[in-house]
Amino acid sequence: MKKKELLNFTKEELQGFMKAHGEPSYRASQIFRWVYQKGILDFSQMTDLGKNLRAKLRELLTISPFEVKKLLSSQDGTLKFLFSLPHGDEIESVVMFYGNRITICVSSQVGCPVGCRFCATGMSGFRRNLFTYEIVGQILFAQNYIGKKITNIVFMGMGEPLLNYDNVIKAIHIINDKEGYNIGQRRMTLSTIGIVEGIKQLAKEKIRPNLAFSIHAPSDEIRDKIVPINKKYPLSKIIPALIEYRKITHRKITLEYVIIKGINDTIQDARILRDIARKLRAKVNVIPLNPVPGLDFLPPEEETIERFARIVSERVEVSIRKSKGREIQAACGQLRAEYKLKEKVYQ
Ligand code: SF4
Repeated sequence: MKKKELLNFTKEELQGFMKAHGEPSYRASQIFRWVYQKGILDFSQMTDLGKNLRAKLRELLTISPFEVKKLLSSQDGTLKFLFSLPHGDEIESVVMFYGNRITICVSSQVGCPVGCRFCATGMSGFRRNLFTYEIVGQILFAQNYIGKKITNIVFMGMGEPLLNYDNVIKAIHIINDKEGYNIGQRRMTLSTIGIVEGIKQLAKEKIRPNLAFSIHAPSDEIRDKIVPINKKYPLSKIIPALIEYRKITHRKITLEYVIIKGINDTIQDARILRDIARKLRAKVNVIPLNPVPGLDFLPPEEETIERFARIVSERVEVSIRKSKGREIQAACGQLRAEYKLKEKVYQ
C-alpha cells in the first residue's frame, strides 16, 4: 500500500484517518504538535504515542524530505532556499528576518502560468501546481534548517496562489491550526495578480490571509504589456471584485506595484494609481524592480521612485519596499532559472 503524505492532512482529515484505522481522533492533535510545533519528522521519536501505534504510523504515513539543493544567504541575513521536492521539481522559498519577525515567502506552483514579462518565474514557464504537503513542507524544512520558529507567511513566491486554490487554502488551515504552526490569519499574506473568481471565493473563507493585489500598472493599456493575463482579468473586472472583497471582509487590501523604468513610472501613472488606491482604501507598496539577467527591464532612478511614491502618498498610505537579499537573486524564480541554466551548461 502506498503511504500517504502526512503533511497533506488538515487536522480534521487526520482525525478522520485515525478513526478509520481504529485510533482515537485526539491522536491527530498529538501528531500535529510533534510535527509542526516540535519539528519532529520521525514517528519513532513521538514518545507519547504507544509503540504499536508508532509502528502502524510508519506503515501508513510518511513525511518525504525536501533536499536543500542550494542555499544562498545575503548580507542582510535573507536566506534563499532552492528545494528539491520529494517527487521531483525544484522550488524556491525565501526567509527574511526583521527583528523578532521571521517571514517566509513560499511558492504555490512550479513555475507560473501568468507569465509576467519582468519575472524570472513567469519567463521560465509553468510545470504544475504544488500539493498541500509541498507548500506546508517549505515552512517545516526551512524552520528545521534555521532552528527558529517562523512567525509570518507570505504567498508571494513562485506561482499564482489563487490558481492553486484548494491546496493553498488547505495549507492555510494547517498553518493557522492551534496545534499546527499556530500562525494567525493576519500574519499571513496572499498576493494575487488578480484572479477574479479566486478573490470572490476567498472573501467567503473562514480563515483568510491578508490580501495583496499585484497591480503593477495603473491602466489596462500598460498592464497588458507586462502582465499578459490582464487580457483575461482586466482592471475593470478586478477592481469591482476587490471593492466587494473589502465590503464583505472589512480587511485592508495592499496594492503591490513593481516600478519599472520607462514602463510605469510617470507622474501620470502615480496619479492614477493614487486614485485607484483611494477608491479601494488600500495601502500601496512601491517595489523597485529586482532586475533579472537576460530581461530588458530596469528599476527607475531613486529620485523617480521617491517622486512617484510622494505623489501616490496624497491621502494614501505608501511605502517603498526595501529589496531584501538583492545580491542573492531574491527576485522570484531567479535562482531556479539560474540553476537550470547552469545544469544545462555543465551537463
Ligand atoms: S510575478 Fe508572480 S504572477 Fe507574475 S509570473 Fe512571476 S510568479 Fe507569476
